[in-house]
Amino acid sequence: MRDKFGRTIDYLRLSVTDRCNLRCRYCMPAEGVPARSHREILSYEEMLAVVSAGVEMGVRKVRITGGEPLVRKGLVSFIGSLAALPNAPEITLTTNGLLLSDHAKALKDAGLSRVNVSLDTLQPERFAAITRRGGLDKVLAGLHAAEDAGLTPLKINMVPIRGVNADEIADFARFSLDHPWEIRFIEFMPVSGNLDYPPESRFPADDILAELARVGELIPIERTGPSGPARLYRFAQGRGRLGVIPAVSHHFCSECNRLRVTADGRVRPCLFSVDEPDLRTLLRRGATHDEICAFLAGAICAKPERHRIGEADFRQGPRAMHGIGG
Ligand code: SAM
Ligand code: SF4
Repeated sequence: MRDKFGRTIDYLRLSVTDRCNLRCRYCMPAEGVPARSHREILSYEEMLAVVSAGVEMGVRKVRITGGEPLVRKGLVSFIGSLAALPNAPEITLTTNGLLLSDHAKALKDAGLSRVNVSLDTLQPERFAAITRRGGLDKVLAGLHAAEDAGLTPLKINMVPIRGVNADEIADFARFSLDHPWEIRFIEFMPVSGNLDYPPESRFPADDILAELARVGELIPIERTGPSGPARLYRFAQGRGRLGVIPAVSHHFCSECNRLRVTADGRVRPCLFSVDEPDLRTLLRRGATHDEICAFLAGAICAKPERHRIGEADFRQGPRAMHGIGG
């Protein structure tokens, strides 16, 4: 399906929970996170109905996200049900990796094609400080379990924050020399106003590129198809790739192909939406497949042309990233 700016929308980001076993400072506030009851969260049956409608509207890829998706019980069999849909989309997962070594093989067997693992530091004390918890060793074990299970190509998401972990960009980039992984550097986005890091902590894409160039000559990779918002590079001798996602400094809105559904059943036409059409009420009124399709079509029509971060009329919404899904 095309939106009114001619963009083809074929990618659904589905959040299965807003709960998380970490508390990353760039994503979640320390206090005041609303504890949503199970009743407020869509059931897997409701989510399956939404994805089935999405597939009919042209969705070819579904990314499962959260909160931390692996904390929700029954995720492996939900992925199995998605994979069994007629014209099943590609199914991917974004995770903090803490529980990945327990589930990697079962996820692959159920039909998951690959994972993105979020990791912001290789230093245990810093990991504990950024996440307000700990468990770096578990995340590293999860990365290797995902690779062994064939959830590849493996992607690592790092959010560099000035004065916190931006000095590790080169260390992360070196992973791409020895591993066939894609290391993605994502600009910090000031989605909500209740985070520990102010908007000025953002380490902009141009500075990320300068850090990468210290490791070796960056060779741009031509896009052969939709590669999402990442600008891709590799080092001459590298086995993997590097991605830079300039979410704020050079927005990629003209190429946006996404629709987001939150765990509590709101549709977000844009990552930075303030208006969130309420799909849950429609689902719980017993909506038909065609009614869900029509609702998704309306949300696609409501996609704005671009976000307004950094402009006078930009409004931060009440939801932090864990409640949106990234
Ligand atoms: N818990 C999972 C994880 O951390 O991968 C999935 C949900 S998390 C909200 C999805 C992605 O959003 C992660 O890669 C995380 O680093 C990123 N993220 C969270 N808050 C962000 C922010 N303020 N700016 C940029 N990326 C952010
Ligand atoms: Fe949890 Fe992921 Fe947000 Fe970290 S980035 S608090 S792991 S949802």
